[in-house]
Amino acid sequence: MQCDKCSREAIIYQPYSGMHLCSMHFTRDVETRAKREIRTHRWIRSGDVVGVALSGGKDSAAILHLLAGLLNERRDVELLAVTVDEGISGYRDPAVARRIAASEGVEWHCRSFAGEFGVTLDEVVARTGERRSCSYCGVLRRAVLNRAARDLGITRLALGFTLDDDAQTVLMNVLRGDAGRLLRSPDRQVPGVAPRIRPFRTVPEREVALYAHLHSEGFDLRGCPYSGTALRNDVRRLLNEYTHRHPSTPFALLRLEEELQAAGGGGAAVPVCPHCGEPAPGECRVCRIIEEVGGHV
Ligand code: SF4
Repeated sequence: MQCDKCSREAIIYQPYSGMHLCSMHFTRDVETRAKREIRTHRWIRSGDVVGVALSGGKDSAAILHLLAGLLNERRDVELLAVTVDEGISGYRDPAVARRIAASEGVEWHCRSFAGEFGVTLDEVVARTGERRSCSYCGVLRRAVLNRAARDLGITRLALGFTLDDDAQTVLMNVLRGDAGRLLRSPDRQVPGVAPRIRPFRTVPEREVALYAHLHSEGFDLRGCPYSGTALRNDVRRLLNEYTHRHPSTPFALLRLEEELQAAGGGGAAVPVCPHCGEPAPGECRVCRIIEEVGGHV
């Protein structure tokens, strides 16, 4: 099949746009959309220190490559990579992320659950069971990234979140009946917390994966042994099946999210836990988990 923009061979078909694209026009399309998000949200400003949350998987390798290319010529913006080692044996290997950062010429830092809380995720699971592994992992990883950002002077944390991730999150919040999260803007300012930026939020996961395969190498393709327990997996299956028949559905969910967040007005100010320093709208989840599993903050 031929590219719809030139005479080269197409490498992908976008069902939602009806376009076949060659490698060059596909790359240009992904980068144009990511740059548009950055511009629209004013996500990167002069003086920023941008930290990429680099797990070593394809999405984070892709976002690092995009930002390294974009910020290469900028003398007024610094780019770092931060890896969080949750302590999951047979899965997380920080050396993978270190090599990816080195290949992009980006300074790399690593923090771990063991170093920050005195407990690995494997130990958390051994003490509390697998059912809540992803929810505990998410809370602790956010806290580690917030600490690393404060220590390293990071002003923006870049995540490799894709359109699929965003659409799944919206649907999960709907299924949980969590109006608070649906109305809360991810761009709101929380004292002591570097705002997250998600340049790939309008790019489908399969396209981010293809972008990574074209422009990055050595990323980790292994799956987390605890991922099978996540509600997100059920939602992913449901949404993929529906999107197969109705390709624009993830974009519709993204629009719904934006409209709800605009109506929600950004959400109330978030208090900070006096014990661990993390944002805690009610009971501090970081402290509760650490107390339950016998670690330290
Ligand atoms: Fe953590 Fe769950 Fe992701 Fe595994 S799948 S790294 S447990 S959030």
